[in-house]
Amino acid sequence: FTPWEDSSAKPFIEFRNVTKRFGDFTAVDNLSLKIYEREFFALLGGSGCGKTTMMRMLAGFESPTEGQILLDGQDMAGVPPYKRPANMMFQSYALFPHMSVEGNIAFGLKQDGMAKADIAARVAEMLRLVKLEPFAKRKPHQLSGGQRQRVALARALAKRPKVLLLDEPLGALDRKLREETQFELMNIQEELKTTFLIVTHDQEEAMTVADRIAVMDAGKIMQVATPAEIYETPNSRFVADFIGDINLMEARVVSTSEDGTVMQAVALGCQIETSQTTTAAVGDTVWYAVRPEKIRIELGETEHAEGTTAVNQTNGEIWDIAYMGDVSIFHSHVGNGNGVSIRSTVANVTRLVERPLTWDDKVTLSWGRDAGVILT
Ligand code: ATP
Repeated sequence: FTPWEDSSAKPFIEFRNVTKRFGDFTAVDNLSLKIYEREFFALLGGSGCGKTTMMRMLAGFESPTEGQILLDGQDMAGVPPYKRPANMMFQSYALFPHMSVEGNIAFGLKQDGMAKADIAARVAEMLRLVKLEPFAKRKPHQLSGGQRQRVALARALAKRPKVLLLDEPLGALDRKLREETQFELMNIQEELKTTFLIVTHDQEEAMTVADRIAVMDAGKIMQVATPAEIYETPNSRFVADFIGDINLMEARVVSTSEDGTVMQAVALGCQIETSQTTTAAVGDTVWYAVRPEKIRIELGETEHAEGTTAVNQTNGEIWDIAYMGDVSIFHSHVGNGNGVSIRSTVANVTRLVERPLTWDDKVTLSWGRDAGVILT
């Protein structure tokens, strides 16, 4: 399912050069974005980056200062929220406290004048979808947070909107429940084939649920790509730093060709070779970034003959170890002078009877030609 790779595919949601200003503050800055039908799309960014404002403009609660928003090919300018084929599920759930679960789900359908029998059938379908059949007669205060969240989801989906907008939908749930609910959301989206747009500041959540992610900062989109692309090939220092853990090293370009790039690491005293090409010129300083799990760590330093330089390899000394259960994270001090600290993650695939590596161990750190990315 990769409609964004098909240049003839029509976007289902389109932001065209959208700017939103509040007074002289620019919350969304000349932003363009295409989202396709049946996509599960995430807007990801830190607090205040403008992601909720994007969603509110799409829902019709705010209007753009400049630019155009199209939904299903139609310009949404002047179309009130209730006439848009989109429905929003709020962070607070906003359930009616005096109504039962059924009543909450049926509310919008009744307002639309749907026939009673059809309402009953739709409510039953929604209760099944969110696995709340045994709780149909309960009031919101008789439910857990997770169950209330599912009622809100059922209510938002009852009218079968073409787009469901989810604003930090799982923010109030504890970690385990949040993870479970993420998989439920994915299943529901798959079953209904509705386009889902989620706003979240939680990168793990965006990576788990979304087909594609837009990483936002200060009203702008920094990168739009699949979770794997965002993680493996971030396009900027901002995205590299924002998503997951990463080692950033300064390096000077020694040579470039179609086959790749050779750099001299500034603090590491080794060369870095990559098959990635760069627009940077020889002598330029760039950033090279490698994820910790792509760095091998082995006991013992590696000697190099006089006059030769290590490539994608450096000696270090462990100064900290964080045992995380599934993995251990090693922090090694490398390089001369100020040096830098390099993090490497090692999967704990067998039970740690004896620690293979420990504090103050001298180690060799190495990584492959395709392990990292150049960020200019
Ligand atoms: P959060 O995760 O904290 O909700 P966000 O990325 O969703 O952040 P927005 O709610 O889109 O951020 O807000 C973006 C910026 O616009 C913020 O600096 C916010 O203070 C400002 N802003 C949002 N709504 C208004 C408003 N009605 N009037 C003035 N400023 C606003």
